[in-house]
Amino acid sequence: MNTGPVLCYSEEPELAEELLRWTHHQKLSEGAPVAAAVLGALPADLPQRYAAAGAQEVYRLAAEAPAFPEAGVLAEALAIVVREAKPRLVLLASTKRGKQVVGRLAGLLDWPVATGVNELRRDGEAWVLEREALSGNAVSVEQFPGGAAIFALTTGQGPPAAASYPLQIREVTGAFPPSRVERREQRPKGGGGVHLETAERIVTVGRGLKKREDIPMVEALARALNASVGCTRPLAAEAGWFSDDHWIGLTGHRVKPKLYVALGVSGAVQHLVGMRGSRIVVAVNQDPNAPILGQADYRITADLYSLVPALLRALGVPG
Ligand SMILES: Cc1cc2nc3c(=O)[nH]c(=O)nc-3n(C[C@H](O)[C@H](O)[C@H](O)COP(=O)(O)OP(=O)(O)OC[C@H]3O[C@@H](n4cnc5c(N)ncnc54)[C@H](O)[C@@H]3O)c2cc1C
Repeated sequence: MNTGPVLCYSEEPELAEELLRWTHHQKLSEGAPVAAAVLGALPADLPQRYAAAGAQEVYRLAAEAPAFPEAGVLAEALAIVVREAKPRLVLLASTKRGKQVVGRLAGLLDWPVATGVNELRRDGEAWVLEREALSGNAVSVEQFPGGAAIFALTTGQGPPAAASYPLQIREVTGAFPPSRVERREQRPKGGGGVHLETAERIVTVGRGLKKREDIPMVEALARALNASVGCTRPLAAEAGWFSDDHWIGLTGHRVKPKLYVALGVSGAVQHLVGMRGSRIVVAVNQDPNAPILGQADYRITADLYSLVPALLRALGVPG
């Protein structure tokens, strides 16, 4: 059985920091070090950031990363670090990219793996985890027999900062495998870099919005509330009015904002599963029987086309 550190990895430093804080919060390391993996370049500020999030070690694959590493390349590079660090546990974020990496990593190492993990604890030798099942209508409690494992955790705002520790940087020798993907062109995504998982306020719109031309009205409300814009699946996947970055739900992003404003959203179970972690929910729907109203802290039965302009006026937004 591996007795090494708990090793946390994400390409996105803020997600890696969350994993580090989470490891301390859940007391997963049981006295072993809490470590972060870095693949390739080590930005100057990163050791300090990771130390402030509770890292005691950084395992860095000291090699030049390809400009465009696909998930398979990252998994192979991470496997080199894992073989060196011999961690008891490897934690990644259960994002789209994170899930692509964990599956491949588990295959390379022949370790057990689970994604979408909401809770994780030790029970004797075993790992006990909880994740959603049946479109979020049930919680599946699963026991892994112990030994090394890889888990992808759902990330959101995460636990509070851990204590800061002295940090050791351990260089791991090895090389990135050649990429099997050739980059021909790079274009910014239409979504403008929305990161709903970490957004504190979200204004989400559904099919209650009748025309694409009405999106600026929703964006104006979001701006006035200092919120990001989210949408239901039909507006992204069918209408194509929003990029996938905005799509919330079972097959979209899982969000945990402090404030979630749902405009013209019916509240289908596949949508609810993505926003269930929201602290305060305000729902605006003209149908008093819409399921979203049953999930809301503030229920407003109204036509969004009357309510949103009225809200904008009340917030002092020029019309
Ligand atoms: C496998 C699977 C996965 C899915 N994954 C997702 C997912 O990840 N995310 C997701 O969102 N959906 C998902 N769906 C789709 C989901 O089942 C619903 O179809 C979808 O969420 C409905 O979107 P909506 O609320 O925008 O539209 P609708 O259900 O059509 O609701 C529109 C709502 O707007 C209200 N309304 C209309 N006009 C106004 C107005 N003027 N003012 C105020 N209210 C108004 C209506 O009363 C209605 O409640 C999935 C479905 C499947 C089968």
